Amino acid sequence: MVKFGGTSVATTEKIMNVAQRILHEKQNGYQIVVVVSAMGKTTDQLVNMAHEISESPSKREMDVLLTTGEQVTISLLTIALQSIGIAAQSFTGWQAGIVTEHVPSNARIENIEPNALKEALKAGKVAVVAGFQGIDDEGNITTLGRGGSDTTAVALASALHAERCDIYTDVDGVYTSDPRYVKGARKLQEMSYDEMLELANLGAGVLHPRSVEVAKNHNIKMSVRSSYEEVEGTILKEEVCVEKDLVVRGIAFESDIIRLTVYYKEAYNGSLANIFTTLAKNHVNVDIIVQSIIEGTEPSVSFSVKKENLQDTLDVLSEHQNTLGYHHLDHESDLAKVSIVGSGMVSNPGVAATMFDRLYREGIPVKMVSTSEIKVSVVVPQEDMLKAANALHDEFNLSIQEKIAQQ
Ligand code: ADP
Ligand code: ASP
Ligand code: MG
Repeated sequence: MVKFGGTSVATTEKIMNVAQRILHEKQNGYQIVVVVSAMGKTTDQLVNMAHEISESPSKREMDVLLTTGEQVTISLLTIALQSIGIAAQSFTGWQAGIVTEHVPSNARIENIEPNALKEALKAGKVAVVAGFQGIDDEGNITTLGRGGSDTTAVALASALHAERCDIYTDVDGVYTSDPRYVKGARKLQEMSYDEMLELANLGAGVLHPRSVEVAKNHNIKMSVRSSYEEVEGTILKEEVCVEKDLVVRGIAFESDIIRLTVYYKEAYNGSLANIFTTLAKNHVNVDIIVQSIIEGTEPSVSFSVKKENLQDTLDVLSEHQNTLGYHHLDHESDLAKVSIVGSGMVSNPGVAATMFDRLYREGIPVKMVSTSEIKVSVVVPQEDMLKAANALHDEFNLSIQEKIAQQ
């Protein structure tokens, strides 16, 4: 199973290169399923076109629109493969049997019926599948959330019992942080599923979080590697060997975070549960939650959401204001989240303190905090996001970690 992302198929020339790579794999005797993304920035352009027409285009039609991007790539890559003598056949998500739940724009794969793919493979063909898309049980076209082609690839790898799943992209592996923005970011040879899942969930765009979840649950041998160079990538596995003192393994960051605060006249049991149950029922993902009940002040609960979910959140909250019992709410924008991740943190209580101390010395205000066994996240002003990520990368010596590990 191989997957090529948007930049790797951005032009017809690059599509020809991908075809050559597949030829190479085919010569090694493999049966191959290729998952591809839309070419280059196509998905963004389609989103922009819809917004030129309407401020709030319907999610169903957005899914119909966005899935056209991948459909272009599957046909062009199949034509490219055929042109160099490789038997190949393209498949949309629904032709590949990818059935999802009924959640437009962010559906989970529920089931895969890969018979058509198996037939093609049996006939000696390369199967070229459109990533990021599926069909729900009512026959609607759905998408899996931005970056979702990774998940298509891993889920198909599981359904077809593939030997491995290689994610080809524009970086040659998973780095300690986004190499585009963090000086000294280093490539990791191995990464545990759990650490990668945290990093991906916390904004490291290199992999779609659900792809890592599926890989972990089904023990899929997954790697991230370069579509341009023949170099070793990063392998994801259950356990990786790291030195005990290498506590932090990676830093992720995510912009466009909004902090909402909901105020109550008085605290009453259940208000927290009600608000988050209501949001969850309406598919609004809430991230960091801070409740404050301090005598003499109005009880309140703050939580963060992604900017793209702000309107949905406000709509759901105002629609249910009476049952939720709050009396007003406000929100603060231009925030970002910066997180440190590492499975060694469980046994190192001082990590969060070191993080806060460095941010304090950098003059970066911390607006919200959230911790788990293997991560600490802070919400900071958007303008401080990269400064914070670079400072923390330095503070936890991430650029020299592997050197230490090799000694
Ligand atoms: P594709 O189009 O192949 O799916 P993406 O743009 O989704 O590629 O993902 C690759 C990008 O992820 C890289 O160009 C890099 O800037 C970014 N990235 C973010 N965090 C990391 C990380 N920790 N390691 C490697 N790349 C990262
Ligand atoms: N084309 C989709 C996106 O840009 C899916 C993907 O590339 O994985 O989000
Ligand atoms: Mg991607």
